[in-house]
Amino acid sequence: MIVTKNEIKSMIYGLAVGDAMGVPVEFTSRAKLEKEPVKEMLGNGSYPDIPHGVWSDDTSMTLCLMESMARTGKLDFADIMNNFVQWEEGDAFNATGVTFDIGRTCNAAIQRFVKGADPLACGGKTEGDNGNGALMRISPMALWLAVHPGADMDESMEMVHQVASLTHAHPRSKMACGIYVLILLYVIQGRALKDAVRTGLNHGIDFYSKKPAYKKEVQKYTRMCMDSFASLPASKIKSGGYVVDTLEAAVWCILNTDNYRDCILKAVNLGEDTDTVAAVAGAVAGLAYGYDSIPKGWIDNSKYKNRSLKGKEWLDNICEKFSVAIVAKE
Ligand SMILES: [Mg+2]
Repeated sequence: MIVTKNEIKSMIYGLAVGDAMGVPVEFTSRAKLEKEPVKEMLGNGSYPDIPHGVWSDDTSMTLCLMESMARTGKLDFADIMNNFVQWEEGDAFNATGVTFDIGRTCNAAIQRFVKGADPLACGGKTEGDNGNGALMRISPMALWLAVHPGADMDESMEMVHQVASLTHAHPRSKMACGIYVLILLYVIQGRALKDAVRTGLNHGIDFYSKKPAYKKEVQKYTRMCMDSFASLPASKIKSGGYVVDTLEAAVWCILNTDNYRDCILKAVNLGEDTDTVAAVAGAVAGLAYGYDSIPKGWIDNSKYKNRSLKGKEWLDNICEKFSVAIVAKE
């Protein structure tokens, strides 16, 4: 498959802008957002010291993975973990040089690595380790697999599972990542967005149903595959940090909108884990609708410069390095 430079930028900006739109209202209840919905890029909300346009761990950890793949030309698990360490220490991969919003399971995994554990043994393995911390940073694996697929489906998915398990090693988290990467791959392949989502979900369920290690988890993901899923009312969609809820919420927002802006506003205004739901939906929406579909004012606010997206040099540099490394076409 061919991946273009523009697709890489569209996906990463789609994710980062969604993340930054959600940060100021992270943990805010849906009831409050129904009264005062987010419509534009805000700042200084849930994190009083964080200004407008700052993306968080979702984007930072995505960039850590991309930068490592671009520089090493392979999946080097220790190298990816080293990038996570640099990020957590506040030295790199941050929009403004400040690390904030680190998930519990991610932090525990990074600490295990620092203490000398093998990178593939660092991720949390318990049922309680099924937050959305691997899902939120896995999207570059779709770009990678589009160009460097495994010998077969098993091998491709195993690569996704390994990258997921650096922080989240429970089958439920790995499965969320696998399904999500399949959706992105169908978008890259050129399918219409909603068709790509449904095909990715069904392909994923079909694949995991045949794997003994995942069979038990499949039922967690069947509701989002039902034809009636998109017509569920928002009250039936949870938007907290549990990986299944996050994937469902992102899919639901994608299926119920037809442009990037509406998709992100729907995701953010569901409340709770706003930045991650918007980041997960945003990568898919950005890739499908394209960079130019992202509201200009959210990236470069011409009226209020300080409300523009921050850390664009990180996004641009890593997208450029990655596109050269994976031989993307213009
Ligand atoms: Mg975050």
